[in-house]
Order: sequence, then structure tokens, then C-alpha cells
Amino acid sequence: MNPAPIVTFEFFPPKDSSAEKKLLGEVLEKLSLFGPEFISVTYGAGGSTREGTFSTVKSISEKLSVAVPHLSIGNDDDTKVLDLISAYKKIGIRKILALRGDAPSGFGSTKIKNTSDLNRLIRNEFGSDFEIIVAAYPEVHPDSEDLQTDISFFKEKVEAGANSAITQFFYNPDAYANYLDVMEKNNIQIPITPGIMPITNVAGLLKMSKQCKAEIPRWLQYSLADRKNSEDLNRYCIEIVTKLCEKLISLEAPGLHFYTLNRWGATTKICQNLGFATNSK
Ligand code: FAD
Repeated sequence: MNPAPIVTFEFFPPKDSSAEKKLLGEVLEKLSLFGPEFISVTYGAGGSTREGTFSTVKSISEKLSVAVPHLSIGNDDDTKVLDLISAYKKIGIRKILALRGDAPSGFGSTKIKNTSDLNRLIRNEFGSDFEIIVAAYPEVHPDSEDLQTDISFFKEKVEAGANSAITQFFYNPDAYANYLDVMEKNNIQIPITPGIMPITNVAGLLKMSKQCKAEIPRWLQYSLADRKNSEDLNRYCIEIVTKLCEKLISLEAPGLHFYTLNRWGATTKICQNLGFATNSK
């Protein structure tokens, strides 16, 4: 078994008590075997999961001490954002994944318009108490006109205090290789961990990729559609994402961040295929 490279997992706040029981029980237990550096918890657009994100982060940190809240701006004013960050600090959280967030967050009354502003707010109020992780887009953020504009916004986020980044999901490893080159040319030196989306539901994936404009290559769409037998499809989905991870590791990715969608099966199979050691007996 290879020593496990850094892995991190992403959850979203469970919708009800039975989903919560499963997430904090079975799912957390299975994925913890891979010794994740942290588990991050998403924040609903517009702060819609403020309480849910907080309580999930608290529960995970009580069990593992490795939880990272996502924090987007929504329509909150500075005070509300700072109160939430203070509450995280009180429960021992030391890393935040800072985001602008998506619609319907809007930018209403708040002065914070993008992640750079949020980073500056965190650094002004809390100094270096928190490590700040930000989002990165190897295929270029859909709101940016071109690569160079996107890179200049990313650079601003880094100069405003980001320590590391996690990417949007993608299935073309060349996009990541190219992104690392561009970072180097622009003298941006923070570690950039690729975000990995295991494929467990093709229709769901296509819908999500349309929403966030992450590309599913045409060859992959056809190959997925071509597999009518569900066992064959599942095997193929695991294989394709395992190969993607292998390529990313060969590109010296600093770690792998799995968008688990609160499931443990596919992520576990991929980590096992990659030979990641577990701490199970
Ligand atoms: P930013 O980095 O602030 O910027 C996004 C775009 O805004 C830029 O590309 C640019 O076009 C524009 N921009 C930035 N700075 C400026 C500026 N100074 N002037 C003008 N324009 C500017 N969404 C959620 O709602 N909840 C989550 O929990 C969540 N988790 C995520 C985790 C990861 C790892 C990733 C990759 C994304 C996540 N998202 C989440 C989605 C994210 O919120 C959206 O992609 C959103 O559209 C952009 O957020 P950002 O933090 O990348 O924005």
C-alpha cells in the first residue's frame, strides 16, 4: 500500500435528522479511514444553510477535529459575517474556505463583492488566526471574460490572504496541468488541490455541470451514455475517475479533494484503486 497522499472530503449539510445520522455515522466513519486532512462543509447560496453548516462543522470537529466551513457572502453585512467567523473560532476552527458564492446570494446590501473582500475582512479582523482556502477554476470561471482576467482576480484573492486553493471539478487533466503552468508564469505560489467529482449519477452530473459550467468532455458524455448496463456504467465511472486521479498525482497535485455528495462508496473505491492506505485494522 502506498502512503496516502493528502486527501480531503467535502460534505453538504444534511437535510434532515436521518440524513444527518447517516452522514455523521456511516459516511464519516468510512471516509475517516483514509485519514483526511480535513472535511469541508458547503454553505448554501445566500447563507441558506448558515445553521446547518455550523452544526455539521461542529459535529465533525468534535469527532475528528478536522472540519472546514465554506463561507460565502450572500446578502450578509460585515457584522453578520464576522459574528459567524468568531463563532467558528470559539469552537476551534482554524481553516475557512472563503467564497463569493453563487446566486441567489446576490450582493444586495453588503459591501463585500467578491472573495478578495472577504479575505481582507478576515485578515483585518482575525490576522493569521485562520488559514484561508479559496476556489480555483482551471477551465476559467464562467463570469470571467478570459483567462488573464480570471488569473488577475485569482491573484488578488491570494494577495488578499489566501493560503491555498481547491479547484472546481473537471475531467480533463490537461486543464489542471495548464493551470499550474499559468500560475507559475504569474508567480502565484499557493498549493492548488484538484477537486474530484466521482460520477455516481450521470443525469445529476450533467445538470450540475450545466449550472456551474464545468465541462464534461463530449467523449466522456458519449461513453457514459453508451453504457446501458448499470454495473458496467458504475465500473466505468470508477475507472475513469481513478485514471484522472492517477494523472493528477503524476502532475504532483498537492492532494485530492473529493466532492463526496455525502456518499462514501465511490470515493472509497477510487481511494482504494489508488492504493491509499487506510487506518483500518
Ligand atoms: P470569486 O473568486 O470572488 O470570483 C468569481 C468571479 O467573480 C471571478 O472569476 C470574476 O469573474 C468575478 N470577480 C472576482 N473578483 C472581482 C473583482 N475584483 N472585480 C470584478 N469581478 C470580480 N458555492 C456556494 O454557494 N457554496 C459553497 O459552499 C461552495 N463551495 C465551493 C467549493 C469549491 C472548491 C468551489 C470550486 C466552488 C464552490 N462554490 C460554492 C461555488 C462558487 O461559489 C461559485 O463558483 C461562485 O460563482 C464564485 O465563487 P468564488 O469564491 O470562486 O468567487
